[in-house]
Amino acid sequence: MHEPQSLEQLVAEFSSLPGIGAKTARRLAYHILTRSKEQVNRFAERLVSASEKVHPCPRCRLYTDEELCPICRTRSCAKAICVVEKSSDVQPFERSGIFKGLYFVLGGVLSPLDGVGPEQLHLNELVARVRDENIEELILALGSSPEAESTALLIGRLLESLPVKCTRLARGIPMGSDLEFVDEVTMLRAFESRGAL
Ligand SMILES: [Zn+2]
Repeated sequence: MHEPQSLEQLVAEFSSLPGIGAKTARRLAYHILTRSKEQVNRFAERLVSASEKVHPCPRCRLYTDEELCPICRTRSCAKAICVVEKSSDVQPFERSGIFKGLYFVLGGVLSPLDGVGPEQLHLNELVARVRDENIEELILALGSSPEAESTALLIGRLLESLPVKCTRLARGIPMGSDLEFVDEVTMLRAFESRGAL
């Protein structure tokens, strides 16, 4: 079917988003055409504004639009760091209120097939924080995939010489599930029965 080029380009942009297949991309692009000019402008402005203003916190790498994220600012005395794969994984912890410590966003897990090696993760920054801030406990909340397992083992090895207790969430987290979507009760249980690495 022939479509105007600008519409085709819009479909292509939507298709490039994670979880959006060709059909959904087309539906979204056609939907945009039914919206008012003001609505479309606001949408476009918010896209640009979020991408320009939001950046990783220099200390924990959580997304923030401030110099330092609110968690680093208000809990600077905490001596525990919870390590997550991506910024959005922090949500279930904060929603459940179980953890009052600091976070660190690793930026992924080891995945040699996808070209993710130790250099692609922010491991040096993590080790430096644990050392410089005298962190007493590091809680690994990286999920339960084989990639997460090997990442957890590597972090454990990197921190061997430091006086920090490394723990990991209990296996209550369903295998292969995305931490971001874990409900509060599962998270509370997994957190409370966290064990040694
Ligand atoms: Zn921060």
